[in-house]
Formats: sequence, C-alpha cells, structure tokens
Amino acid sequence: MKYDNKNIFAKILRKEIPCKKVYEDNYALAFQDINPQAKVHLLVIPKGKYISFVDFSKNASKNEINGFFKAVSKVAEEEGLVKGGYRILANHGVNAGQEVPHFHIHIFGKQKLGSMISKN
Ligand code: 5GP
Repeated sequence: MKYDNKNIFAKILRKEIPCKKVYEDNYALAFQDINPQAKVHLLVIPKGKYISFVDFSKNASKNEINGFFKAVSKVAEEEGLVKGGYRILANHGVNAGQEVPHFHIHIFGKQKLGSMISKN
C-alpha cells in the first residue's frame, strides 16, 4: 500500500485544513480529535509519511521514532494527564478500524476510561 498524500492528516500537516493544535516540534504534531471520545481526546501524528504503526515502526529512522514517542509523552504531561492517568492507543488496519491512513496515536484522559476493549 502506498501513502496517500490526500489523507486528512497529510492535509492538516500541510496546513490545507485547520486543526486545534496543542503541540508541535520537528517530529510530531498534536491536535484535538474532531469527534472526541473522552473529555480529553488528542491525536499525535509524525511529520513523516507513514501509513500505520507497522509502516512507522519498520521504516522510520531511530530519530523519528524516538522524537515521536517523546512528543507523545510530552503532550500528555503538558496537558496535565499524568497524575490522573491516561490511555494511548493506535489502530492498525481493518480489525482495529483505522480510518485515517497516516499513523497516529490517540491520547484519552481526564476521566475514567473503562475497559480496554469494548464488549460489543
Ligand atoms: P482512527 O480510527 O484512524 O484510529 O482514528 C481517526 C481519528 O481521526 C478519529 O478519532 C476521527 O475523529 C479523527 N478525525 C478524522 N478527521 C479529522 C479531522 O479532519 N480533524 C481532526 N482533528 N480529527 C479528525
């Protein structure tokens, strides 16, 4: 599968469509999810063109991987989520229901988050 330059997060990175940004550095951009599933629901995306977690973990450089996950941790800290606890999640592929084909980590927090996997 080839990276689709027209995916919505590619457009956000190119600033063609707006987002509610909470953090940005050389490796990552973090912003509010448009359809929040928790009191706090953020998305962190790498600046590079990676389709999914599998693509990112196999093909990104050590610096990109290190920088990206440091950014995820920094965002959670800066948003005040560490003390109360938070959840990070990445959907890969069909079984997980990945909608947007640009790798992203969801961060959920500021409430009890319930069981890890829906019983539905
Ligand atoms: P996935 O199912 O791919 O793991 O999650 C994609 C997420 O992107 C969903 O939670 C969805 O609400 C969010 N999303 C989709 N389109 C947009 C958008 O245009 N802006 C923002 N901020 N979030 C989006």
